Amino acid sequence: MDFDTAAKFHGHVCPGLSIGYRVATLAADRFKDRSEDEELVAVVENRSCSVDAIQVVNGCTCGKGNLIFKDHGKHVYTFFKRGDKKALRIALRSDVLPQDERHTALFAKLRAGTASPEEAKEFRTSHEAKSRRVLEMPEEELFWISEVENEPPEKAIIYPTLICSECGEGFMEPLGRVKNGKIVCIPCFEAIK
Ligand SMILES: [Zn+2]
Ligand SMILES: [Zn+2]
Repeated sequence: MDFDTAAKFHGHVCPGLSIGYRVATLAADRFKDRSEDEELVAVVENRSCSVDAIQVVNGCTCGKGNLIFKDHGKHVYTFFKRGDKKALRIALRSDVLPQDERHTALFAKLRAGTASPEEAKEFRTSHEAKSRRVLEMPEEELFWISEVENEPPEKAIIYPTLICSECGEGFMEPLGRVKNGKIVCIPCFEAIK
């Protein structure tokens, strides 16, 4: 699986995708000679571009249940084979992508649609340079890698479906909210009426 395939899946080249690609290929390499038939599980602690590389390279997806998302906002990725006690923890070193004020300012301008063509080009150039740097950096300069004790497997719980008393749509029981004494789904609970 090459980087171009991951970039095609993701839709663009960016430092986040490069980080994910390095994580994914590292994990694939470390796990290639462990129990073939046991499925690889990835626990990702952010929802950034990097996760797309893990989905496409490692085949870990939300739908299959072997991609577990924890909303920690950290570039930390833990991989294990089901049934294995040991897990591989990969954390991005905190000095890899230092705060770049110029880059952040350009990104904000692009988002707001106020960047000039020159600024847009400057952003793209810097973005691509960062991505390339991540792809070329030695592993030990990029990551803190450790073997950790695996967490006990999460039980797959099937929740009953409740019907929202406002929109009439079904939702999973633990995600219900109470509004004016009636059980509703989250979007209805949050809707201002
Ligand atoms: Zn991206
Ligand atoms: Zn509802």
